[in-house]
Amino acid sequence: MNTKPKLGMYWAASCGGCEVALVNINEKILDVAANFDFCFCPCLLDTKKKDIEEFADGEIAVTFFNGAIRTEENEEMARLLRRKSQVLIAFGSCSYEGCIPGLSNMHTMAAHFKSIYIDNPTVDNPNGIVPKPQTQVPEGTLTIPAFYERVRTLSQVVEVDYSIPGCPPESGQVWHVIEELIKGAPLPPKGSILGAGSSTVCRECPRDKTHRKVSRFYRTYEIIPAPEPCLISQGVICMGIATADGCGALCPKVNMPCIGCYGPPEGVLDQGAKMIAVLGSMIDAGERKGLSEDEMARRVDLILDSIPDYSGTFYKFSLAGSILGGRRP
Ligand code: SF4
Repeated sequence: MNTKPKLGMYWAASCGGCEVALVNINEKILDVAANFDFCFCPCLLDTKKKDIEEFADGEIAVTFFNGAIRTEENEEMARLLRRKSQVLIAFGSCSYEGCIPGLSNMHTMAAHFKSIYIDNPTVDNPNGIVPKPQTQVPEGTLTIPAFYERVRTLSQVVEVDYSIPGCPPESGQVWHVIEELIKGAPLPPKGSILGAGSSTVCRECPRDKTHRKVSRFYRTYEIIPAPEPCLISQGVICMGIATADGCGALCPKVNMPCIGCYGPPEGVLDQGAKMIAVLGSMIDAGERKGLSEDEMARRVDLILDSIPDYSGTFYKFSLAGSILGGRRP
């Protein structure tokens, strides 16, 4: 009989990158197998839902739950795994904050279905059929999980013990968390963020942080930034200043802006709002050029017009879990 503590990993509305992050710990996966009974992971193991249902409540020591809650099935599995797990960890940005699936909260479910199943140029659907939970056929009733109007984070559905941020979490950080579990280190207070620092990406970024006022913003394909100065000072919106550290500032180190996948830093409730506040202090509104209030307002509007996509820029990963949450139906 296997007496090792059980470890599970589940994917809800996600892309599979979190599973890649787990196997990216390379040979250390053998340590995982040596110390845990890796009992459930639909991407890697052929365990069935009924196998989980047969576990006693709390029988799984730790579950890594990646993916947002998009469908009825996602919610059902979240509730089941909450019940069966002593420790439930929101693993990765989708589960922790909603991530890219959460951006769909900007639109209605009907608009999504119209775009995907009716207006899509590669779909031939003359009868305008869209998915619905139940469909009558001569043989009986076909049932598929209901698609929800809004994407929710895991903690908006069940109680979550810890969260590991990142899209996906950096494998070094994943191993660090697993290593602590193997060592039996005392668990931090419930609700803690694991696998991330307590500061911002700027702390890990080697760029010169002398900030200059910005008179326009650039998309990444419009400019090749200089390697030393802070990217924001060069008009490239880098979310590092509003994002938790822990990734090693990988993106700014290769001349690409941080896009915010580690979520808000400690003490920040809303990552997008924090970033907007930062940019507000960096825009060159012309106040030192003796411009009138109207001229300054026009100038600010022009600068803001150079940001093409506010929600996709400031809330790319955090919309579902943010104060805004997205469109209110
Ligand atoms: Fe921070 Fe980004 Fe500037 Fe680096 S480039 S200092 S991460 S804002």
